[in-house]
Amino acid sequence: MKPNCNKCKHYFVTFDKYSPKGCRAYGIKTSVMPSQIVRQSNNGQECLGFELKDRLKNQKKEKDLNDPKNW
Ligand code: SF4
Repeated sequence: MKPNCNKCKHYFVTFDKYSPKGCRAYGIKTSVMPSQIVRQSNNGQECLGFELKDRLKNQKKEKDLNDPKNW
């Protein structure tokens, strides 16, 4: 499965306007998603360092408003 850097605790936004996306786990700054660089430099293997951000772990699951059980 393709990791979503936006939801990863290692992802950060840099102050470099040419390389605004960074990954602390791999120590890279880039203009594209860090997972894309990791995959390219890792013979097509997806990043294995993905860890869900703490605030997303604690987030309550939202109700599905299309489910009649919720009405
Ligand atoms: S560890 Fe992987 S998923 Fe997380 S920010 Fe870095 S490249 Fe993206």
